[in-house]
Amino acid sequence: MTIKKYFPTIGEKFDRLTVMKEVEPIKRNTAVLVECECGNKFVVRYYCLRNGNTKSCGCLRDEKNVERNVASIGKKKKGYVKKSVEWWNHWSKES
Ligand SMILES: [Zn+2]
Repeated sequence: MTIKKYFPTIGEKFDRLTVMKEVEPIKRNTAVLVECECGNKFVVRYYCLRNGNTKSCGCLRDEKNVERNVASIGKKKKGYVKKSVEWWNHWSKES
């Protein structure tokens, strides 16, 4: 069985992502550390860049909903903290 080996070029750009360096392969797939234009760095399979599956860290897709997301995360966080306190009180009474 032969696996096609890619040789990534450092500094190569795929949409928002720039190849920083080659890293440990993921399941024998060439993997690279990339930096997104938004500043996020993460490891991705190189062929995903080549075939256009991965174009950003996710910010490309999320950008449209960013304002709505921020608003809803803010609400969720408040609710979550309140709920945790309630649970903490509940459990500490039980024990
Ligand atoms: Zn990004």
